[in-house]
Amino acid sequence: RLFNQVQDAKGNIRVFCRCRPLSKEEVSAGYATIVDFDAAKDGELGIFTGGPMKKTFKFDRVYTPKDDQTAVFEDASSLVISVLDGYNVCIFAYGQTGTGKTFTMEGTEQNRGVNYRTLDQLFKIAKDRSETFTYNISVSVLEVYNEQIRDLLSTSPISKKLEIRQASEGVHHVPGIVEAKVENIKEVWDVLQAGSNARAVGSNNVNEHSSRSHCMLSIMVRAKNLLNGECTKSKLWLVDLAGSERLAKTEVQGERLKEAQNINRSLSALGDVISALASKSSHIPYRNSKLTHLLQDSLGGESKTLMFVQISPSEHDLGETISSLNFATRVR
Ligand code: ADP
Ligand code: MG
Repeated sequence: RLFNQVQDAKGNIRVFCRCRPLSKEEVSAGYATIVDFDAAKDGELGIFTGGPMKKTFKFDRVYTPKDDQTAVFEDASSLVISVLDGYNVCIFAYGQTGTGKTFTMEGTEQNRGVNYRTLDQLFKIAKDRSETFTYNISVSVLEVYNEQIRDLLSTSPISKKLEIRQASEGVHHVPGIVEAKVENIKEVWDVLQAGSNARAVGSNNVNEHSSRSHCMLSIMVRAKNLLNGECTKSKLWLVDLAGSERLAKTEVQGERLKEAQNINRSLSALGDVISALASKSSHIPYRNSKLTHLLQDSLGGESKTLMFVQISPSEHDLGETISSLNFATRVR
C-alpha cells in the first residue's frame, strides 16, 4: 500500500495526477487531447506540447479520464486508517479551475468524492474497532478568501475575525471555530451541506467565488484505547484549493488583482512548504500564508500528505496544464 510505512525513503508526500475527460463543449469546438496515457499504469504522463514534441512527468499515480471515483479513492483509502491510528493527514486538490478539483474532493450525490468516502470509511473502521477503541469525531468547515478565514458552520450573524493560535507543540487551532460533533455519515452529509450553503451566501457568483477561495474541511479524531487507556488526537484536512490559473493581464485590476495576488501567494507558499519538506530543509516557511499556517500540523513531521494535481486534456489548456504539472513535480 502506498502509505503503509511511517517513514520510507520518499517521505510522506504522494502526488496523484488526475485528468478529466474532454467536455462536450471542447469536443464540439474540435479541441484535441494532448495527454498520452500509454504509461499511466507506471505513473507516467506524456503531454504533447506541439507537433511531435512530448514532455513526460512522473507521479505516484496517474488517473485517466476513465478512472472513476471508486478507483481514485481506493488508492487514497489507506490514509483513513492512518488517521484512526493517530496520524495527521492532509489531502488536497490543486489545479486550474474546471479541471475537477471539486469533483475529486466533493463529488456529486451520484458520484461521491474523497470527502464523503473518507468520512464513510472512518465511521466504518471506527465501528469495526469499537470493542477496543472509542472514537470521537468532529468536523469544521472553513473558507480562506483573501487571506481571511471564514467559519462556514458559524450561525452567528456577526462574523468575528478568526486567527490561528498555537496551543502546544504541533497543535494549531482557530479559537472560536465551530466543531460539529458527528456520529454517522448522515450527520456529516448535513454538516457538509450547511457549509456549502454558507459558502454561497454573500457571493453573487458561487462558482467564481469558490474558484477564488480555498475550501477546507477539518476532521478531528479523538481516540481512546479501551485496553490500555491511551488517548490520541489526530487531524485530517481535506482541501479544495483555489484555481491555480494565472490571469490575463488585462483582466487584473482592483479587487480582482488583490484576489489574484492572495491566491498566488498562498499557492506558492504551499509549494514552498512542501518542497522545503521534501528537501528536508531546516526551516519550513509555514507562516507565509493562512493556508499553510492552518495546515501546519498536517504537513511534515510524521503526517502524511496527498496531493491531487488535476488537469484538463484539452490542447486549449496546454499552458496551465504544464504549469500545474511543474508545480506538482516540484513538490514531489
Ligand atoms: P474545479 O473544481 O477544478 O473548478 P470541477 O470539479 O467543478 O472543477 O469540474 C469541472 C467540470 O468537469 C464539472 O462539470 C465536473 O463534473 C466535470 N468533471 C471533472 N472531473 C471529472 C471526471 N473525472 N469525470 C467526469 N466529469 C468530470
Ligand atoms: Mg471547484
